[in-house]
Amino acid sequence: MRDVSIQSIRAKRRVASPRYSLVIPIYNEEEVLPKLVERIRTLLCQLDGESEAIFVDDGSHDKSAELLRNMVAVEPRFRLIELSRNFGHQIAITAGMNAATGDAVIVMDADLQDPPEVVLDLVAKWKEGFEIVYARRVKREGESLFKRITASLFYRLLERMTSVDIPRDVGDFRLVGRKALETFKQMPEQDRFVRGMFGWMGFNQATVPFERPARTIGQTKYPFWKMMHLAVHGIVSFSETPLRLALWGGLVISGLAMSYGVYAMLAWIFESGVIAGWTSTVVIVSFLCGVNLFMTGVVGLYVGGIHAEVKRRPLYVIERRSGFDEKGHARAS
Ligand code: UDP
Ligand code: MG
Repeated sequence: MRDVSIQSIRAKRRVASPRYSLVIPIYNEEEVLPKLVERIRTLLCQLDGESEAIFVDDGSHDKSAELLRNMVAVEPRFRLIELSRNFGHQIAITAGMNAATGDAVIVMDADLQDPPEVVLDLVAKWKEGFEIVYARRVKREGESLFKRITASLFYRLLERMTSVDIPRDVGDFRLVGRKALETFKQMPEQDRFVRGMFGWMGFNQATVPFERPARTIGQTKYPFWKMMHLAVHGIVSFSETPLRLALWGGLVISGLAMSYGVYAMLAWIFESGVIAGWTSTVVIVSFLCGVNLFMTGVVGLYVGGIHAEVKRRPLYVIERRSGFDEKGHARAS
């Protein structure tokens, strides 16, 4: 009952001319840009308040940046941030969100796999009083069976290994309110798994289902190894389970190895003619070396994380901004 009344108050406050910012990371998307820009323009007109679209060029090697610069020059609601090199999807999103001035900020992919029309549903949910609204993929068209299986395994594993609520099957397509955005800006971590960070911060969260169409133009910029990297970092930055597993795994295996050693000694004392087997020695030594290396690797991942954090480097370097005024604020549209 209380919830409902709070939400209706919020809803009323929110309807009063909200400002919207779209954040769109771009990496080598020249083929899709003309169509994307057209769809974004339509969307901006459908939104019920002032709006801006912030494109973040993540060090594209093709003509994306140039095309975007031209578009920003003629469209007052468009802004462009050009990063000095490829910093990766998660950092590009961060750069865009840091520059966003809206009351609601929407992050979406450039490849139209996140249909701009769904943004209207996200906005409707936000107006109901939710601070963070995720678009949840209920159907993934055109994704290989392999990607579907690995993605599903990853989300389930993540759910089991972390104490943070990270909703299943959501990507980076989401709307966040001003409060969540300000919280996000205070999170300086280098190793960014953005969807985990929003899960961590709490607030009223909701999901909106949508059918994810196949990428029709261009190629995925997430090859297998990049996906693995994201998955490993997602787990390492939100869970200490691998460290604990390493500890217990190490203990169990050394226990087994010790019992085998005791058995070998007993056999040597009580049985005659036992020759220490070369094969078993080699097998055990190499097995233990393998386990040891694995454990060291797990620890190394966390130590690497600490190393990256203590350097305190800026997350990204901006080469050029267009469509913003000199103070860095988005100009009025
Ligand atoms: N992207 C980026 N930097 C990168 C890789 C990707 O900014 O290093 C952008 C890309 O342009 C797209 C979004 O991130 O807008 C998602 O990439 P993609 O569609 O290739 O990923 P997938 O949908 O296949 O997971
Ligand atoms: Mg995509």
